[in-house]
Formats: sequence, C-alpha cells, structure tokens
Amino acid sequence: MTSLSRPVPRPGVLDIEAYVPGKSSAPAGVKLHKLSSNETPLGASPKAVAAYGALAGKLELYPDGSATKLREAIAGRYGLDAGRIVCGTGSDELLQLITKVYLGEGDEGIFTEHGFLVYKIAILAAGGTPVVVPEKDLKTDVDAILKAVTPKTKIVFLANPNNPTGTYLPFDEVKRLHAGLPRHVLLVLDAAYAEYVRRNDYASGLELVAESENVVMTRTFSKIYGLANLRLGWLYGPAEVVDALNRTRGPFNVNGAAIEAGTAAIADDAHIASAIEHNDKWLAWTTAELEKLGLTVTPSVANFILIHFPAAAGRTAKEADAFLTQRGLILRSVASYGLPDALRMTIGGEEANRLVVSALTEFLGKAA
Ligand SMILES: *Cc1c(COP(=O)(O)O)cnc(C)c1O
Repeated sequence: MTSLSRPVPRPGVLDIEAYVPGKSSAPAGVKLHKLSSNETPLGASPKAVAAYGALAGKLELYPDGSATKLREAIAGRYGLDAGRIVCGTGSDELLQLITKVYLGEGDEGIFTEHGFLVYKIAILAAGGTPVVVPEKDLKTDVDAILKAVTPKTKIVFLANPNNPTGTYLPFDEVKRLHAGLPRHVLLVLDAAYAEYVRRNDYASGLELVAESENVVMTRTFSKIYGLANLRLGWLYGPAEVVDALNRTRGPFNVNGAAIEAGTAAIADDAHIASAIEHNDKWLAWTTAELEKLGLTVTPSVANFILIHFPAAAGRTAKEADAFLTQRGLILRSVASYGLPDALRMTIGGEEANRLVVSALTEFLGKAA
C-alpha cells in the first residue's frame, strides 16, 4: 500500500480549470445589463412562475424521482417516447453523467476547438483524455473529427448550434459525422439553442436518436424557457443508454420546482413564440448595426453573437470589455475559448441592444 499524507484526487481532476461563468455585476450606481450568459430578456413564462410558486407549501415532500409529469410533457410536445427521456439538474449534469458512464480512465472524448468548455471538464473529471479538433472558419469540421477518432475514442461532443461561435452544422453533415463514427462511439448532440434556430437545413437530432443506438441529444430549460436559475435539462437517447444513465443518476436529481415550472413552460406556446420573434428581430438588428461600425460579427443562429475586435491598440476586445463594463453592459470574454480578440454578446432587450451599439460607436470613435 502506498502511503500518502492526504487524500489525492483521481488522475485528471487537478488538470481541470474550473468553469468561470459570465460576469454578473456592474460598477456601483450603474444599471446592470447582463448579456454574458445567454439568458432570455423575456424572463420565464408567467405560467411557469405560477407553477413554481404553487410548490411553496410542499417543500417538505420529496419530488417524483422519475420526473414523470415533465417527461410526459416533453414527450407530448415533440412526439417522443417518455421512457427514453432523462431529466437532469441542467444539461450540465447530464453531460457529466454521460462521461461518467461511457468514458473510463485513458479513454478519449472529442470536441471542437471552440466547443463548450463543460465537455473538457466532464471528460477530465471522468479520468479521460480531451481531444480537441480544429474548426474551419469557426465551424465544426466533420472530416477533422473523423480523422481524430482512435481506438480509444468513446464520446464525441457536438454543440449544435455551438457556443460561443453561434454557428451550426447542417443536419446532412451531422448525419455524415454519425455515419463515419464506429458504432460503439457515443455521439452527443448538445442542442441547447435548438429552439432559436430558423434554418431549413438544421435539425436538433431527435430523428437521428430515434434510429440509432449511439446518439444522444441534450436540451435545456435554461435558454429560451428562461429557467436557468432552477437548473433543468433533458436528454433523449437509445433505451440502453437511458437505462445506464438512470442507474447512475441521483434518485431525486431534479427538484419539484423545476418539474412544475418546466412542465408549465414547455406548454406555453405563446411565450416561446414571442421569445423567438424577439430574437429574430434583435439578432438581425444588432448584427447589422455592429457591422456598420466596421466590426466583424460571426453569423449566428442562436441568441448570442460573437463580435470580433481589431487587434489595434485602444480597440482590442479587452479594452472594449472594460469600456462596456463601465456602462453596465456586461458581455462575455471568450479568451478561455481560444478567442482573445472577440466578445460574446447575448441578444438582450431593446434597451440593452441599443446601448451596446451606441457604446461601441463611442468606443471605436474615441480610439480613432
Ligand atoms: C447554456 C448551455 C447549456 C445549458 O446548460 P444548463 O446546464 O442546462 O444550464 C448546454 N450547452 C451549451 C453549449 C450551452 O451554451
């Protein structure tokens, strides 16, 4: 027996750089416009808020450990088999659960160059090896992923649309990726922003899950549904995968408030429609206005945009970030995503979007 002077984490754990969430405070006395975490400016559905409140008198009761009511509501909305849905404390928990179950020590998990940082954390926490694959023009490169597959590969993570780039992979390409993977490799399609996408060649992947044994799709209530504070996500997967995940998840992993609010939120078509309409309008407007200023904006299909700043002194992303923060406009630095010259901006309410455009007009003019 080795003798260690204190408990030591498993290999990989201390290689993790803890996830740093978007900033959420403004300087004293300045109104805060938080555009750093892709939250909806419309808030949650009033029906979800009411359902949440109605639970206040029942806090002593354990929730339904299978979240049956919520799974049936999701299944009803999308025409799915409720038995193949797993709910989780945010899709984050589900991504962690997937790696815990399908990735062992020394196994490889693939994700793309500017992919969501939670994948790397989940892979390392499971003792696996993260394999980062280059993108092409800030888009997923299917051939690069297929080239990176080795006998050790167990999982491929694909955020579609991707965060923080806002780009997406057409469904034909997702199918080509799937067709090229060995059948024991699990393809995880993270469709956190699927509800926002307005493109005929996009699909979240439900169809592929239905006809495959190695594809899982994850979704969240944190974005268009406006329930980020309750931590609620879900996945749709093959029966065998769902069975394995259900054996390992916490028995009451989703709280009752999330079950009630999520069930109400998913049925509120009018609220979802206004969130989509708001985003369509202001995504296009903000992109066009920033381009008029000479900034490059990566075309986005989600509820956020990636704004690229020139590397010139006085005009860098870092300086823009400081300038905006002074005015209470909190965007997201994406240097940790390998994008030091860009900032990610969530499409906010009308006031916030206009303020960002006028502040950046001033910022760029000043530096001239
Ligand atoms: C926001 C986001 C999620 C959602 O995470 P939750 O844990 O459900 O809040 C998942 N994937 C990506 C790419 C995201 O941007």
